[in-house]
Amino acid sequence: MDSRIGIFWLREDFRLTRNDALAYASQNHEKVITIYFYKKKLFEDRRAQKWWLFKSLENFKNDLDKKNINLEIIECESYQEGFKTILNQKNFSIYWNKIYEPNYLNFDQKISNLLLENKIEYKIFKGNLLNEANEIKKNDGTPFKVFTPFWKTAEKYYLDKDHHKKNTVKSKSSKINFSKNSIKINNILPKIKWYPKFEKYWKPSESEALLNIREFIKNEISDYGSNRDIPGVKGTSKISPYLAFGQIHVETIWEETQKIERKSNGYRKYINELGWREFSHSLINYFPQMLKGNLRKEFDKFPWQNNKKHLNAWKQGLTGYPIVDAGMRELYETGWMHNRVRMITASFLVKHLRINWTEGEKFFRDSLLDFNEANNVAGWQWVAGCGADAAPYFRIFNPILQGEKFDPEGNYVKKWIPEISNLPKEFLHKPWELDLSVKGFELGKTYPKPIVIHEEARNEALKAFKSLKK
Ligand SMILES: Cc1cc2nc3c(=O)[nH]c(=O)nc-3n(C[C@H](O)[C@H](O)[C@H](O)COP(=O)(O)OP(=O)(O)OC[C@H]3O[C@@H](n4cnc5c(N)ncnc54)[C@H](O)[C@@H]3O)c2cc1C
Repeated sequence: MDSRIGIFWLREDFRLTRNDALAYASQNHEKVITIYFYKKKLFEDRRAQKWWLFKSLENFKNDLDKKNINLEIIECESYQEGFKTILNQKNFSIYWNKIYEPNYLNFDQKISNLLLENKIEYKIFKGNLLNEANEIKKNDGTPFKVFTPFWKTAEKYYLDKDHHKKNTVKSKSSKINFSKNSIKINNILPKIKWYPKFEKYWKPSESEALLNIREFIKNEISDYGSNRDIPGVKGTSKISPYLAFGQIHVETIWEETQKIERKSNGYRKYINELGWREFSHSLINYFPQMLKGNLRKEFDKFPWQNNKKHLNAWKQGLTGYPIVDAGMRELYETGWMHNRVRMITASFLVKHLRINWTEGEKFFRDSLLDFNEANNVAGWQWVAGCGADAAPYFRIFNPILQGEKFDPEGNYVKKWIPEISNLPKEFLHKPWELDLSVKGFELGKTYPKPIVIHEEARNEALKAFKSLKK
C-alpha cells in the first residue's frame, strides 16, 4: 500500500460501482479522501442541476461514509485554483475519471503538466461512455457525421473489446481529513424556491439509479419501441439525470440489458438510444466548434427573429399550442421533459418562432436535471437542421398533428394544462377551434390564443430557410 493519501477527484461520477478512479485509490492507498471542487459559476446557468448536485453530494457522502472515506468540498473559482489550494500538501496522489467534453479534456492536459512539475502522482481513467470519445472513426480515419454507420461501427467495436473489469471500492480502516478549507454541503443548497418540487419526482442516488433501470427493464423495455414516443405513458427509462451525474455508468446499463433473455425490438431500440449518446459525445469532441455555434456554417446567415415576447411565451408554456405548452410545463415542474416533446418544443422555437436554437439550448441547460453538453447541443442542432445527421430544416413538425398522433387521448396535455382538461378530445390539441362553451375555459383568458398561426409560421420558416441558399 502506498503511504501517501489517495485522493479521488469527484466530478460527474457519484457512484461506487464502476468508478475506476475511486476503486484504484481505495485499492492502492490506506488513506483515501474524496474531493469535490465546487465551482459556483458552473451552476449559475444550470440552476435545476444545482439541486441535483446538492442531493447527490448528500447521498454520495453517506455511501462513502460506509466505506470510511470522507467527502470534502472545496469552493473555488476554477479547477486550477482548486488544485492550487491542495498543492501545498505534497503527500498525495490524485485520480479521476474522464469527462468527454473538450474543455474538461483540455483541462486534464493542463493540470497533468502542473502535477508533473510538482512531482505529484496522478492517473486519469475512462469516463462514462462505452467507447472512448475518439476511438470510433471511419476506415479513412475521419470522424462519422451520420449516426447509423457510426453506431454500427461503435457497437461492434465495443462488443469486440475486452470489457473493462468492474472494479470495487475497498473499505478503509478509518476516515481522514485533508483540506482545511472544506465547506459544508448545505452551502450548496440553492436559495430559489424552485427546487423543493423536484423532491416529489426524484431521488438522486446510486441505489435509486440501479433500481430505476432494473424496473424499466422488467416492466417497460419490451414495449419501448412503441411507448417511447407516447409522452402520456411512462415508456422511457428516465435514467438521464443519473447518467449526467454518473450515479450509474452506461456500462452498468448495458450489462443489465444483457441479462434480458428474450431481446425484443424494444431492447434493440433502447440500445440504439444509448448509441445516440455515444454519437453526441463523439461529435462534440471531433467538432468542438459546434459547442459555440452551428456545425453547418451556412446556418450562420439564418435570419433569426429576436422576439422576447415569443421567447417568454415559449419558456412559460403559454404559446397556445397545448403539446408545446405541456412540454414546457413538465420541464418547469419536474426538471425533465419527454424526448418526443423536446423535439416538438425545440422545433416550435426554431421553426414556428424562428428564434435561434442557442436560446433554447440555454433555457434547457438551466432547466433540465439531465443537462449534458453533448446531448443538449447535438439535440438542438439536430432539430434546427444545422447539426450532423440532422432533421432537415424544411421538415416542420405540425404541433397539432404531433399532439394528435402521440397524445391521442390527450392524457399528457390534460395532465400539464389543467385549464383545458374539460375540453372534448377532438379540441385538446387545437382549443381555438372549439365552437361550444365549456365550463371553466375561455380562449384568450384561461388559456392563450396561439401566438402564431401554424400555416403562416411554416411558410415564413420555409422562406427564411430558402434565403440561406441565395
Ligand atoms: C432539443 C433536445 C435537447 C436535449 N437535451 C438533452 C440533455 O441535455 N441531456 C440528455 O441526456 N439528453 C438530452 N436530449 C436527448 C433525450 O431527449 C434525452 O436523453 C431523453 O429524453 C432522456 O430521457 P430517458 O432517460 O427516459 O431516455 P430513454 O429513452 O430511456 O433513453 C436512455 C438514454 O439514452 C440516451 N438518449 C436517449 N435519447 C437520446 C438522444 N436523442 N440523444 C442522445 N442521447 C439519447 C440518454 O442518455 C437516455 O437517458 C435532448 C434532446 C433534444 C431533442
